This record gives sequence, structure tokens and C-alpha cells, in this order.
Amino acid sequence: MNILISACLLGLDCRYSGNNCFSGNVAALSENHTLIPVCPEQMGGLPTPRNPLERRGTRVTDKSGTDFTSAMEKGAEEVLKTAKLLNCTHAVLKSKSPSCGCGTIYDGTFSGQIIDGNGVTAEKLLSAGIQVTDENHLAGL
Ligand code: SF4
Repeated sequence: MNILISACLLGLDCRYSGNNCFSGNVAALSENHTLIPVCPEQMGGLPTPRNPLERRGTRVTDKSGTDFTSAMEKGAEEVLKTAKLLNCTHAVLKSKSPSCGCGTIYDGTFSGQIIDGNGVTAEKLLSAGIQVTDENHLAGL
């Protein structure tokens, strides 16, 4: 099947820091599936590198409080558009990210604290009925 993948997990240098977080386990899914790399923050128009962002409630900001919510929502819409275009029923997204995190994210205080919650893109995909997991929960794929 076609699976959306956070592009940074496949080795693309799209993280805020300008590098990636390649996962061999995620890349190995290509043996049985077609992997579609997406980076919602880039697709929403944000530059790379960029300031780290965190989600707090419905807003996404950097540490200074500058608001990037609209770019994050735009990126989520573009990823959902990609999912529909390519008939993706599943997504494997990077854990804890304010865009991609599924189940847990940083709490918005830039203190390293983790809370229950989803990133903006993970939330949009889940609402559309797409099954979302992260790089640490690949069983069943
Ligand atoms: Fe990776 Fe998602 Fe962050 Fe892009 S937005 S760098 S795909 S975690």
C-alpha cells in the first residue's frame, strides 16, 4: 500500500535544524510498501533551517511566542491532499513533533516536557480516517 512518511525519517534534511532523523526500520517498510515522503512544515511554507516550534492548545509558536499556526495548518492541508491524491490509508509520522507527533507532543513550554496530544498534521489525518502511527510503533505494517 501507499504510506505517507515523515520525510525526516527517510533521511531528508527537513528538520528545523537542517538535518534528519533517519530510521532504518521505517525505510525498511519500502520492501513491502510504497513510501511517500512528506514534510508538513516545509509544505506549509516554512524555511529550513527554522526555529523549533511547539504546540500549545490550538496554537503553534516558537520560543519567542511568534505564531506559526497558519503555516502549520496549511502544511497539514497539503499533506492530506497528498494522501487523497495517492490513496494513502496509513501514515508513519515522527514522534513528538508539533506537526507530526501522534499520541504525545512537547507541551509548548520549550522545557522538554511531554504531554498527551497530536501534532497539527497527525490530527488532521486522523480526523480524515487515516491510520497514523510513529516510528516506534510499526507493528502491523
Ligand atoms: Fe519531520 Fe514532520 Fe518536522 Fe517535517 S514537520 S521535519 S516531516 S517531524
